[in-house]
Amino acid sequence: MERQIPVTCPSMPPLEEYIDEIRDIWESKWLTNSGGKHKRLETAIVDFMGASNIALFTNGHMALEAAVSVLGLKGEVITTPFTFASTTHAIVRNGLRPVFCDINPEDFTINAGAIEALVTENTSAILPVHVYGNLCDVEAIDRIAKKNGLKVIYDAAHAFGVTRNGEGSAVFGDISMFSFHATKVFHTIEGGALTFGAPELAEKLNSLKNFGIEGSGKVTAVGFNAKMSEFQAAMGLCNLRYANDEISKRKAVAERYDTHLRGIPGIRPMTVQKGVCSNYAYYPVVIDGFKNSRDVIHMKLKLEGITARKYFYPLTNDFECYQDISSKLQTPVAAHIADRVLALPMYAGLDTDTIDKICAIILDD
Ligand SMILES: *Cc1c(COP(=O)(O)O)cnc(C)c1O
Repeated sequence: MERQIPVTCPSMPPLEEYIDEIRDIWESKWLTNSGGKHKRLETAIVDFMGASNIALFTNGHMALEAAVSVLGLKGEVITTPFTFASTTHAIVRNGLRPVFCDINPEDFTINAGAIEALVTENTSAILPVHVYGNLCDVEAIDRIAKKNGLKVIYDAAHAFGVTRNGEGSAVFGDISMFSFHATKVFHTIEGGALTFGAPELAEKLNSLKNFGIEGSGKVTAVGFNAKMSEFQAAMGLCNLRYANDEISKRKAVAERYDTHLRGIPGIRPMTVQKGVCSNYAYYPVVIDGFKNSRDVIHMKLKLEGITARKYFYPLTNDFECYQDISSKLQTPVAAHIADRVLALPMYAGLDTDTIDKICAIILDD
């Protein structure tokens, strides 16, 4: 049996370091509900990302649901279909209607120039996604939001550690959501966070993730349970020490892929945006006009034990559960990319020989 190459592989801190980090939990017996490690992780992440305020969650999706809920949105939310299921579900599960805007063909983020045509008297917010760590056109989105009185929530699940002109990805919009799932650049096993400028949101968010219970014991909102445990926070404290190292190892992987795939007609690797320091979360290529299609390449890799991922595919406006409210025909650029994009294996431990082998299979020579 050939060695299997996964599309992603979680970064793990040294085992002894994690054991040291959780050892005192056996003394304190404080397992969850905003314990000491949770508080330390909040501070450490705020420092790392340059955020003003933070609330930690048990996963990114519940963080996103909390963000939509805390801003008291109504009616319609303009968003992108080129994303993970979570983004659209967070809107719909809050009783709101997603309105799908098309994307840019180059960086795969929402086409800011197409947003205003979708604004109606029912629109209350814009929910864009920093796809693969590419940042949205945050200035244009900010202008449109201010002019039309809309809130902005960024799905920044892919953008941990990304900076532009020295400014961190956590400072844009009213709220940004980060995922700390095991497959992300920085993880807490399962986990997530919201960063935000308005300090008064902190208390409301911390109440929402704890059933809507306030410090006084009063229950003022229909909340849910989305608290991060001390074991998750301990994993985060360990992994954060290696986050920069993780990103530079991923950068080396991306550069090796580049030497084989950049400049090949019909294969378009993603380019890092101007002024942006990427986190190299993914290595997507768009296969468009190459001798083999995306699906053929995906299959050829699979036959060699290599998992690549059609990511994002299908578009969320093409999901069965959204058939009644949307169609991918309304977002032709996103539909074109979703049919041709392939995320290649990307993780810190991916060795040069394997990268060379993957590229040889793709290039078919
Ligand atoms: C991972 C991810 C989420 C959800 O985060 P979880 O921590 O897995 O709940 C949301 N949006 C995008 C774009 C993601 O990649």
